[in-house]
Amino acid sequence: MFKNLITESTAKSPWLFHINSGSCNGCDIELVAVLTPRYDAERFGFKLAGSPRHADIVVVSGPLTQQSLPRTLRAISQVPEPRCIVTIGSCPQSGNVFKGSYSVMAPLSKYVHVDVAVAGCTPKPEAIMDGLVQATEILKEKRKAWLEAKKNGLKDGPKAETEQEVPAAEDVPASGEEVQQ
Ligand code: SF4
Repeated sequence: MFKNLITESTAKSPWLFHINSGSCNGCDIELVAVLTPRYDAERFGFKLAGSPRHADIVVVSGPLTQQSLPRTLRAISQVPEPRCIVTIGSCPQSGNVFKGSYSVMAPLSKYVHVDVAVAGCTPKPEAIMDGLVQATEILKEKRKAWLEAKKNGLKDGPKAETEQEVPAAEDVPASGEEVQQ
């Protein structure tokens, strides 16, 4: 629905939807710091969205536990295209200190294309802000491509090589094996 609202005159501020997929809360606290007046992410237009359906950028923290992975994928699939996926901290990239646990399903990139990965444990607020600004630039390019596709009659937008369908929660193997598209 929202993709039909993308026009050349649309200069929408990027809204963020944050998913904690089982983190220790360190990354979440730093993300909150980014949104407070000290780091003031709102000067770039960033705002937290209460629903994935209203967001442009998904921010994922945590190592993706067996329980949180299906919910994470479902929430990501509800963010309208074009969207950007940002991981914060080393957990969603590799499992970090939780790697090897029976319940850890990281990395997120096994299941969906990740646009920006902010490394660190815990990443500094400046690094998170930098990642979000990078995501905004990527989002602008994706929006341009969508506009172009709409002009060319592709109402579902372009299918970039880097885009993957978000697998349905029931398609994710319990072992966390890579999902075959
Ligand atoms: S990356 Fe570090 S600070 Fe962030 S959730 Fe994982 S263990 Fe916690």
